[in-house]
Amino acid sequence: MKLILLGPPGAGKGTQAKLIVDKHSIPQLSTGDMLREAVKFGSKIGKRAKAVMDAGKLVSDDIVIGIVSDRVDMENCKNGFILDGFPRTLQQADALEAMFEEKDMALDAVIELEVDDDALVERVAGRFTCGTCGEGYHDKFKLPVTPNKCDKCGENNFARRADDNEETMRSRLRAYYKETAPLVGYYYAKGFLRGVDGMGTIAKIAADVDNILKSA
Ligand code: AMP
Repeated sequence: MKLILLGPPGAGKGTQAKLIVDKHSIPQLSTGDMLREAVKFGSKIGKRAKAVMDAGKLVSDDIVIGIVSDRVDMENCKNGFILDGFPRTLQQADALEAMFEEKDMALDAVIELEVDDDALVERVAGRFTCGTCGEGYHDKFKLPVTPNKCDKCGENNFARRADDNEETMRSRLRAYYKETAPLVGYYYAKGFLRGVDGMGTIAKIAADVDNILKSA
């Protein structure tokens, strides 16, 4: 199954992607995660991407298209994958279509998480993750059961993304509406788009996503 998760920053794409990964055993390909790794390791791509990411702007299409193209060729993608945060521009969507054609792959569905803008800044500004196992948390909505101890792996190694602050978040939202929101119409016109109300509980959204996947 090849799936795209679409929605503004903070819509819950990463959270839902992780649940799909657990249930369907296909990897989550998050271009944001891949770029953050590149920044962390100081690779050539990381050096080019860092300032752009810190400003909440979009990294150039050629960089992200290259990373995704390499990644989908890996062995663990042969049964499918979830694209989280890619494509983010019409140019990336066209490149993805060409890539699928060249690699003889087919897209199954595009799931749009529909959210209320006002909730996004609050969601994003409060989120943090376990740096050891990747479990996601939130200052207001999901604190660890035992303070300073990850519910999943027990470590006290929490981290916040450098771009999860109000100012950068507003810039990321502007980039979303300018560059990425047109993809809703793009995939609707191609018959791939399925909308999900992203304002409910994580479990309710996951159930709605699951229903879509059953019929995809
Ligand atoms: P995310 O984790 O998806 O919120 O992405 C974090 C940041 O990485 C974004 O604000 C962009 O700077 C960059 N980024 C991630 N995916 C893409 C993409 N497909 N195209 C351009 N920039 C991206």
